[in-house]
Amino acid sequence: MEEREKSNFIWDEIDKDLAEGKYEKVHTRFPPEPNGYLHIGHCKALVTDFGTAEKYDGLCNLRFDDTNPEKEDTEYVDGIKEDIRWLGFDWNGGEYYASDYYQQMYEIAEDFIKRGLAYVDELSPEEIREYRGTLTAPGKNSPWRDRPWEESLDLFRRMKNGEFEEGSHVLRAKIDMASPNMNMRDPIMYRILFEHHHRTGDKWCIYPMYDYAHPLGDAIEGITHSLCSLEFEDHRPLYDWVVENAGFREPHRDKLGYMSIGPRQIEFARLNITRTVLSKRYLRQLIEENKVIGWDDPRMPTLKAMRRRGFTAAAIRDFIDRVGLAKADSEVDYALLEYCVRNDLGASAPRMMAVINPLLIELSNWEEGKFDEITIENHPDHPEFGERKIPFGKYLYIEQEDFMENPPRKFFRLRPDGEVRLKGAYIIKCDEVVKNADGSIEKLICSVDLSSRSGSEGASRKVKGTLHWVSKEHALPIEARIFEPLFNEESEDDDKKDFMARLNPNSLQVKEGFAEPAIKDAQVGDTFQFLRVGYFCKDKDSTAEKPVFNRVVPLKDSFKLPKA
Ligand code: ATP
Ligand code: MG
Repeated sequence: MEEREKSNFIWDEIDKDLAEGKYEKVHTRFPPEPNGYLHIGHCKALVTDFGTAEKYDGLCNLRFDDTNPEKEDTEYVDGIKEDIRWLGFDWNGGEYYASDYYQQMYEIAEDFIKRGLAYVDELSPEEIREYRGTLTAPGKNSPWRDRPWEESLDLFRRMKNGEFEEGSHVLRAKIDMASPNMNMRDPIMYRILFEHHHRTGDKWCIYPMYDYAHPLGDAIEGITHSLCSLEFEDHRPLYDWVVENAGFREPHRDKLGYMSIGPRQIEFARLNITRTVLSKRYLRQLIEENKVIGWDDPRMPTLKAMRRRGFTAAAIRDFIDRVGLAKADSEVDYALLEYCVRNDLGASAPRMMAVINPLLIELSNWEEGKFDEITIENHPDHPEFGERKIPFGKYLYIEQEDFMENPPRKFFRLRPDGEVRLKGAYIIKCDEVVKNADGSIEKLICSVDLSSRSGSEGASRKVKGTLHWVSKEHALPIEARIFEPLFNEESEDDDKKDFMARLNPNSLQVKEGFAEPAIKDAQVGDTFQFLRVGYFCKDKDSTAEKPVFNRVVPLKDSFKLPKA
């Protein structure tokens, strides 16, 4: 990985804050909601949060934002932790849950009520929406807005005690129903939900809203820089309103003893990637509508899926690094991600031969039952990876695409009467094309130039093409899963919302191929370069009879890095 200029607008801001003495120790947090698995978009936030803490020798907390009990689950908590560790990060500030602070948040809410900063509203959800106004029209005050605080406090306590139905009462911040910022029009702080929570069980039937819980979680933990994606920019005034009114803007020592003036939210652009969707809601829809088999379907943009497919943590971090941090939204080419993966695997993956679309070759001048041992290096640039021996016999498979009966000029693979070298072995010539009754090719009869074996004196004879191959009698059947992006390219007149209409019907192709015998020692998760075909990673669906290989990325693509 080449060194890139390491700075960004967030770090510039932090440098200023430190220079002005606002904070003693940089402290960030990564706040996933445990309602699904992490996707590559989260990686950008992760790298930003953990990377910033690393850069300033600070701390980063992992805080699960578990304020929507109906959608959240411990399965996701565990999955998220596994993904973060896999990427190579560690929450050195500790592991927390928004729900750890429910009691404290509740007390702060009571305090807000007593100070006239919050009130219990009895408008229905529809009325609340209606009273809120629009972007162009101001909202209007709820008739309950100016009720005595004692009454609100009593009602709030009764909400907590489960005396009211869902939707009948909410606690709202009393800010400004005419604010040009809709988020400031008396936002809801608490709603009633009779839901079982994955950590607090049935203890609570009122749950805080994100906009109230998040700033308080940050402030309570002593977070200094709360980095988040751009859609929260309009929520920042509310974030500051909560932090300030809860008293955290006064210079104070945080719970670790560092001087602080409370957390500061800074927004950065979300990661968007072409030909994919990055939102748990949409990913869940893909699963529910059986377009993919689950969160770890290798076509999914989740870390769990990418890991299964064979993407490496190093490649993903490299990708995020190349995308960089910006203030404006943009879309990154999916091919850049594959480029980073290919870059990483090219250096590290041992080579192997496998044929994905087999075409049978019979060598007319080779004895039945006679086998040669061919020695091939495991990696052209790494002699320390060693060599392996591959059997070569009368019947071989090559790739269907490597033969054409009527090829165009410049086709340097096999053609009738043409010659190619079989990798590491001999030059063969195609003498006859044997067809099935339906006109398809059954096999090719070829003759071997017995004096042309690689490594021997005759090896100096040059032919243009070199093909990969496997010996039929030794070949092990494999299933190869070839992936394309889940979605087709977006065009101008596409309905942006109807992303399902852009599903790529070819996102998964399953091939029955053959690999050289050494493949039998591969473990699930091992990745190889199948010569000339691509990088392949052994999948957990493998059985003893038939290993399954995911194509991680093809060998080449059209992607060129833009000139710096
Ligand atoms: P989703 O829409 O996929 O559910 P989310 O923002 O609701 O995403 P959270 O689990 O709430 O997901 O987010 C955890 C953190 O990851 C947040 O700080 C959020 O801003 C960030 N994040 C989520 N998606 C992206 C993205 N595409 N690019 C950058 N950051 C993201
Ligand atoms: Mg969310």
